[in-house]
Amino acid sequence: MKKDIHPEYKQTTIRCACGNETEIGSTKENISVEICSKCHPFYTGKQKLVDSAGRIERFRRKYGNYQDQKKKE
Ligand SMILES: [Zn+2]
Repeated sequence: MKKDIHPEYKQTTIRCACGNETEIGSTKENISVEICSKCHPFYTGKQKLVDSAGRIERFRRKYGNYQDQKKKE
């Protein structure tokens, strides 16, 4: 292998906004991300990002009322 043509490969910690840290090998140092496999809704099955303002809850309440009205008719 030739010398000095490869970037240095070292252990790096990726820090996510959720607090999760992942050790990887990389040429970059101290990588920070806003979302990772630990906190992404796809992996957690939760909708905390979408539902942070309670929008889904409000929608369900609205839709629930709509169904009640339907029954009365
Ligand atoms: Zn995360």
